[in-house]
Amino acid sequence: MTNCTTSALAKRHGRRRRMNGYTGDREPSPRIVSVFRRPDNTVCHARCGRPLSLQGVRALLEADFYCYACLAHVTIPLLVLDTMPVVAQAAF
Ligand SMILES: [Zn+2]
Repeated sequence: MTNCTTSALAKRHGRRRRMNGYTGDREPSPRIVSVFRRPDNTVCHARCGRPLSLQGVRALLEADFYCYACLAHVTIPLLVLDTMPVVAQAAF
């Protein structure tokens, strides 16, 4: 027979969470800064302001883009595509 009651276990787990720094509260994801989207839904490279070319989607998790101006590969998680900043005119 165990001496641990439900409340004693809850207190111990709560103490462990606080010791690990985990509070259970989720913070928002960092804002995407490597790409932006024009109002016409064109995904553009933030470095040069030029449109990116979609190369494909990996495992339904990430979209691979390529910038022909910078010759750079850019990977964007699909979950953050909707949170991408919309910029009417880039100031380059
Ligand atoms: Zn570029």
